[in-house]
Amino acid sequence: MRRGLVIGNWKMSVNRQSATKLIDSIIAADIPARDADLVVCPPYLYIPEVSAHLQAAGSSLICGAQNVAAHETGAYTGEISAIMLKEFNCKYAIVGHSECRAFSDYTNVSVAKRFCLAVAAGIIPILSTTETLEEREQGRTFDVVAEQLNVVIEMAGIESFRNAVISYEPLWAIGTGKTATGEQAQEVLHFIRQLIAGKDQEIADNIQILYGGSVKPDNVKTLVEMPDIDGVLIGGASLVADSFLKIYSSFQK
Ligand code: PEP
Repeated sequence: MRRGLVIGNWKMSVNRQSATKLIDSIIAADIPARDADLVVCPPYLYIPEVSAHLQAAGSSLICGAQNVAAHETGAYTGEISAIMLKEFNCKYAIVGHSECRAFSDYTNVSVAKRFCLAVAAGIIPILSTTETLEEREQGRTFDVVAEQLNVVIEMAGIESFRNAVISYEPLWAIGTGKTATGEQAQEVLHFIRQLIAGKDQEIADNIQILYGGSVKPDNVKTLVEMPDIDGVLIGGASLVADSFLKIYSSFQK
């Protein structure tokens, strides 16, 4: 049985004060643990503070990052490396989030480099796969997602997926209020698991695969009851402690 994973991506939607308030409210709620881990991904700048609050409270909540550089070290102005993130107790880092792919012209190769560097630094990459509405309407979903995965598998090797998570977040469902139905999400997540199984069955059986895209307390149940959905990646609804924790609490895997 795969353990569940619920990830809050705060994006650039908090400031120092609201980030601190949010993490303190989540810690203070002290909700009963489910068979799932709970992760928050603050903006880089607030990771040290959030991480320190979690440590001081002895919380089981985990800190992650929204991104990681495609270079190990050196003259890369404005970038944050996997090694730096590790210094602040980041256990996870999202790589290739749909918004980065869409708005910051990431390529599958630059996403693969980020993935490799995260793994090398001991950080679990959350490899984000995605598609646009146009690609879905053209019936290209599986081809697009397969290409995103295959480039990473080729560069990193399938073994590195023992310490990785994969997510599927269709761009058309992110922040739009349009969620994929449980069946739509399941179809793609099943395809992802089968693609991994084609390389290594054991890794495919164990890897956590998440869905992301307008997940809310009132739609999470139909998603997580799908056999291949091991967890969710949440943007908007993770900015309010109550809705974030309601999603976690309804997690029954
Ligand atoms: C996301 O940040 O990946 C996301 C899914 O955002 P939202 O839940 O707001 O759609």
